Parts: sequence; structure tokens; C-alpha cells
Amino acid sequence: MARDSRYDILFEPVKIGPVTAPNRFYQTPHAAGLGWQRPKAGAALRGIKAEGGWGVVCTEYCSIHPTSDDSPYGFLTLWDDDDVEALARTADAIHAHGSLAGIELWHGGSHAANRMTRLAGIAPSAIPAMYHLPTTARGMDLADISAFRGWQRDAAIRAKRAGFDIVYVYAGHDYLPFQFLSPRHNQRTDEYGGPLANRVRLLREMIEDTKDAVGEKCAVAVRLAVDELHGPAGITSEGEGRDIVAMLAELPDLWDVNVAGSLGNDSKSARFSPEGYQEPQVAFVKTLTTKPVVSVGRFTSPGVMVSQIRRGIQDFIGAARPSIADPFMPTKIREGREDEIRECIGCNICRAANNEGVHLRCTQNPTIAEEWRRGWHPEKIASYRKREKVLIVGAGPSGLEAALSLGRRGLDVTLADRNAKLGGRILNESALPGLSTWIRVRDWRQHMISKLNNVQVFPSSEMTAEDIAGFGAEHVVLATGATWRRDGVGVNGMERLDLPRALTPDDVFAGAALAGDIVIYDDEHYFMGGALAEKLARAGQRVSIVTPNPSVSSWTAMTDELGFLQARLHEIGLTMQTGRLLLGQGAGHLRLACTASGKESEIACDTLILATGRLPDDRLLHQLSATPQPFAVHRVGDCLQPSSIADAVYSAHRFAREFGEAAGAVPRRERPPVKDFT
Ligand code: ADP
Ligand code: SF4
Repeated sequence: MARDSRYDILFEPVKIGPVTAPNRFYQTPHAAGLGWQRPKAGAALRGIKAEGGWGVVCTEYCSIHPTSDDSPYGFLTLWDDDDVEALARTADAIHAHGSLAGIELWHGGSHAANRMTRLAGIAPSAIPAMYHLPTTARGMDLADISAFRGWQRDAAIRAKRAGFDIVYVYAGHDYLPFQFLSPRHNQRTDEYGGPLANRVRLLREMIEDTKDAVGEKCAVAVRLAVDELHGPAGITSEGEGRDIVAMLAELPDLWDVNVAGSLGNDSKSARFSPEGYQEPQVAFVKTLTTKPVVSVGRFTSPGVMVSQIRRGIQDFIGAARPSIADPFMPTKIREGREDEIRECIGCNICRAANNEGVHLRCTQNPTIAEEWRRGWHPEKIASYRKREKVLIVGAGPSGLEAALSLGRRGLDVTLADRNAKLGGRILNESALPGLSTWIRVRDWRQHMISKLNNVQVFPSSEMTAEDIAGFGAEHVVLATGATWRRDGVGVNGMERLDLPRALTPDDVFAGAALAGDIVIYDDEHYFMGGALAEKLARAGQRVSIVTPNPSVSSWTAMTDELGFLQARLHEIGLTMQTGRLLLGQGAGHLRLACTASGKESEIACDTLILATGRLPDDRLLHQLSATPQPFAVHRVGDCLQPSSIADAVYSAHRFAREFGEAAGAVPRRERPPVKDFT
């Protein structure tokens, strides 16, 4: 198909200092959890982005010195010459598709815990090490600053040798150069502290040093947090953020700007921010510099992207999450296939992987970070050798994914669901406050399935074991999901309780009557407890939430949402009792116990809603297994293991990829050959 001419502007080349990006799609640096230990996987991931059409592809954060060690999280290193070869693989993989390779040189300052290297942390002043109490980072003296400048220079030279085209000076996300800028962190009284002109000194020197070292061949980019969202006490886009850009406007070759303070502000979930949410803070940058500017904002709509360029907000379309959800987004727009973009839903499961220190994962794109270790390509899948019939029961995320991927492999697929609408759990979950984008998981798959002649979809079709047995498929895939449990068993409360009047989220979605004082008991700890409470409170219900954990929806700390969620729940006046275990339900009240002391208490309750965990709906499996069948029965998604939508999609995708193949459960791992062990 021909490209829509309105989007031509997105495919214009843009000069960045001595190099030229082939188009305006710019994958900004983002963590992938692969780090220096997994260079092949890292190279394959970035290579796929370049293949998908991103004109600039950057690495994850790359430490310039062992005093900046983020173990156990995945981060790159350019500590010595031995690191060059591994990173050259990434630059080569990006260049193979004609894109520019960028590298984000990083020093975390008081952010780095140095758990592996065990070196003393450094910072502009002696300040507590962020997130890693009880350590205090050492205040740097002038000799330290001079050494630090040397590390940046040496790392830049190594980056150039590895083949990178864009080398970063990274003054964002509360890391060391930003700590010098921030009056909250920088309490120095010498020429690097005090007035802004002094606090900017190190950043200016770093840009000059880096340009001096590699500027003839490589562009030097500055990543700057122009607003740390701490109000007047910190850097703001109306105050010192603006002044910093004004002072250094023409010095770097590119400005990569964002809202930070912490990573959570820069990668807010859709629950707490719309597409393009950073524009109010970053829009001023282009008015102060002639250098190209890039920023982010979960851009997935080509129309919004064009508007960003035409209105002069930025020169590139910066993206981390949208490039994870769809590495081929630029190619799809270029080829007039924008309807096929697998849009990021803003759920931040990718951030959870980072916070857990494991391989990147994504709800929408099950192939991310699997490019090398499982050989998966987001746009290609091997054909199946025979034309066999598969019946899939259940059209939630896993059933849809199985139907799409098996359909792409050429099998004869029938997908049946008892509901009139496809989507399974997402139908209800996307109706919760802030989660409407989650329906994209269904929409994209349903749309892509509609393009396949070999996949037939039957909504409003309840399937019994007899129906399945009589269908005549060679393979049956059960994707029948899970139901919320009603016995009170959760992460903390292992004992089954007798709670005959308790409701579950399934009951609430099915329209159960809710009366009087409503208590939601959250012992599952992801989004459901908090989101359901918010929904009911906004509908005018009298609702409290009780949880054994120290905070409601505590696992949302992993998706960087917990702080925003707490603020919202307080804002709507929700009553929260934390550290309380459910013991039982009496007339008009619940009996609770303090998790620390065991002291018992009561809370008024006319309606109890249990969000404690889910159980697989595997009834069909048991019925079908009762007698020998002439077909194979498989399970995918929540019906196999109740978990996140991301896990349901992944489970179905892996099933479809490995269907009829010899592939085992063990993925490839990057290990030095045993002969190298000394
Ligand atoms: P997952 O996350 O694994 O995709 P969901 O709970 O989202 O699981 O989806 C399960 C789907 O299976 C629901 O849409 C439900 O209507 C459907 N389903 C369950 N049992 C049957 C059945 N016997 N016949 C048809 N559809 C079924
Ligand atoms: Fe987007 Fe969610 Fe995928 Fe992250 S995990 S890229 S937020 S869809």
C-alpha cells in the first residue's frame, strides 16, 4: 500500500552534528535488562528496532566507570577496552539496516549502589545514596571531578571505536550530572556549587570534553531532565530547566529532553498520563536552540507525531515504549499499514521487568528480548508443515494471540467464545479507571485476525466438552481463563475462610448488588484492588480498602505507579487500612488482625469484595481428559497459570511458535565457553 502523504514529513532525514538520521523515528535509550552480561541479546534487540525502521536506535544505560555500578540490574559497561568488542555487535546490528547507533553513557552518582564493585559511591555533596540506604555517597573533591571528566572522555572514545554515531552526555533521571545541576543534591560552595552558572559547569565541561574527544565523527547528545517535578525547590521548565537550555543551547548536537526527577515521571503509565503528556514541560526547548530536539510521550498515532513536528515541539519522534510494543511501527507507517501498528497500552509491564532486574517483557509484544535467546522475530513466524485444524476455546488475550499466531503459521483455526464480544478479561479490566488503553490488546489482535482467511471467529458460542469432541479438530487449545477466588486465600492469607456472602471482582463486573459499607480486601496486590476501589468510590459508593501489605496495590511499585496511585486514592478520600489480615466476616463487619502484632480489630462491612487471587478455569480439560480423545488438548494463558495479561499473551505466543517444533523450555543463554574459565 502507498504511504499516506500526510506522513511524509516523518521520513525526512535530519542532520545531527556530523551524522544524519535517515528519518525522524528515534528510539531513545531505554533499559532492556540485558546489560553487559548479554551482549548478543542486546545487539539482536537493537538490530530488530533498526530493521523495523527506527532511524536512530540507542542502547540502554552504559556505565562509564566501576563507581557507577547498578547491579543487580542489567546495564552496559565501557569500563575498559575489553568492553568495546561486545558493544560493537550492537552498533553493527543497527548499522546493518542503515540506522544511526546511539549510546547512553551513564554515571549514576548517588543512584548507583555499587553492590558488585563495592566501590564508594560519589556525588556532588555527601548525600544519602538514593534507594540504597544506609549508604551515603561521598562528596567529590576537585580531583574526583577531574577524574570523572576523564572517565566520560575515555568512554566516549571507546564508544566511537565500537562504532557508535551518537554519544550521550546524560544529565537526566537524577543521575550524577543532574545531581550537580539540582540545588537539592548539590550543596557545594566551590565553583561547581551555588549559583546556576556554577552548577552547570560540570555539564558544560562534559559536553566540551566529549565533543573534543569524538565530536568530529560522532554527534554529542545531551539528555536533560528539564523539569524534575519537585516544584520551585527543584529544576523546573519555567525556571532553571529553561535557564540551563538557554545557557548551553548551541553546545550539544542534539537535545534529548524529558520530565524526570525519577524514571517514574518520565515513563508514566497510561493510567496517569495521556499520549504526549510531556509536551507542556518540553515544548520550550526548541524555541531556545537551533539544534535538533527529541522527546518522548508514548506516541503511537501518526497524526499526533506529525503534529509534534509541524507545531515545532520536536524534530524527532522519540520513543521507548512504543518501539518496544512495535519495533516495526516506522515501517508500517512508511508502507501505509498504520492500521497494523501494535500500539503500546501504557501498562508499564516493561518497567516492571526493569525494576525486577530481568529481561525486558511487554504486554503487546511477546517477542521483545527474545530475538536472540529464542530466535523470535516480531513480524515473521515459520509456516506450519501441514494444514491441520485447531479449535481454540476462549477469545481473551491468550486465545486471540494463539489464533493470530497459529493463523499466521497457516493452520486452519476456529476461535470460539461464549461472549458476544471478544476480549475476555480485558472487557472488564479496560473499563476500570485509567485502563481504557488496555483494550488495544484485543483490538490489534482482532483486527489482524480479520485479515486472515484461515481463521474463523465465532462469538456467542459456549463450547461444552461434547461440542469440542464433535468438532473434529486435530488440536484443541483451551484458553478459558481464570476466575477470582472466593475463599480469601491470597499472598498473605493462606488459610481458606468460610465467606459465604463475599463477592469477587467477577461478581461486581456481572452487576452484583452493592450495598452499604463496601470493603475491598486486596491480598493480590496488583491493579485490581486499587482500581476497583477507585471505580466504586467515583460512582459514589462508600468504599474502604483493606490489605495485609504496607500499601494498597503494592505490586504497582514495579510498574512505577504506586506513588501516583496512593496520591489518587488519597485524593478521592478512600479509607485504607494496611497491615491487616482478614480473619472472617460477621453481621455488618469484618474481623481483621494486625499483621505485625496479631491484635484483632473490626471494620464495618455490608459488602465484602475479595481481590485475593484467581483460579484457572480448567473444567473443560478435566471433562475432556475423563475419556480418551482422538485429538490433543493444550492449555494457554490464565487457564494454565493465572497471571498478567503479558504472561497470558506470552504463553499463547510461545505455544504457537513451538507448536509441532522440537523447541524445549530452555532458552539460549550467554555464557563464556568453559575453556575460558581460569
Ligand atoms: P486469558 O487471559 O488467558 O486470555 P480470559 O479470562 O481473558 O483468559 O479469557 C477467557 C475467555 O474464555 C473468556 O472470554 C470466556 O468467555 C471464554 N470461555 C471460557 N469458557 C468457555 C467455554 N466453555 N466456551 C466458550 N468460551 C469460553
Ligand atoms: Fe507499552 Fe505495556 Fe509494552 Fe511497556 S509493556 S511497551 S507499557 S504495552
